[in-house]
Amino acid sequence: MRILLVEDEKKVSSFIKKGLAEEGYAVDLASDGQTGLEMGLDGVHDLIILDINLPGKDGLTVLRELRKKKVTTPVLLLTVRTAIEEKVIGLDTGADDYLTKPFAFQELLARVRALLRRQTDAEAPLLKIADLTLDPARRLVFRGEEKIELTTKEFALLDYFMRNPDRVLTRTMIADHVWDYDFDPMTNVIDVYVNYLRKKIESGRESKLIHTVRGVGYVLKVE
Ligand code: CA
Repeated sequence: MRILLVEDEKKVSSFIKKGLAEEGYAVDLASDGQTGLEMGLDGVHDLIILDINLPGKDGLTVLRELRKKKVTTPVLLLTVRTAIEEKVIGLDTGADDYLTKPFAFQELLARVRALLRRQTDAEAPLLKIADLTLDPARRLVFRGEEKIELTTKEFALLDYFMRNPDRVLTRTMIADHVWDYDFDPMTNVIDVYVNYLRKKIESGRESKLIHTVRGVGYVLKVE
């Protein structure tokens, strides 16, 4: 899951980015409205966290322009305590939820999960291939009856594979969906994580699920 954070206050943005990264989300940061709009128009994010008070283009203008250009990515607005009117305008403009500053990180995380769940629930409640099951809402993975413990990054990687079965995923595609803009897909980090994941989901089993496509990337499939 990849999140775009548009926030100009460095203290707030680094606090949010660090917390979300620890939960396994890839986070891209924009520190002004124009940059946020351009990154939001890419359409690669699963969620946008958008501050209203931004230099240059304010958050509501960014939201309006995103919706005008048919970007349907869920948006969580960050507002300040007194601005009740902003919240109403924000929801009218097409925000999916809002959070009032200052907030506890756990509250932000709950909102983020709820918004992402709303999306995934509608599309695919449980992801399955062979006897491997991934429950996106409860963040659980099973092979048969056996529960498999994954780190947040391994989970994000498997989630992406399971949403694209039988499709060859290049390192660039994987980097785009599971890591953020600062990530260099030329390093071997992706291969290292794929191997961690393989060990956990394939250990002691005869049937392999993640196959290497030499020189290209990986594919999740049943042979
Ligand atoms: Ca601000």
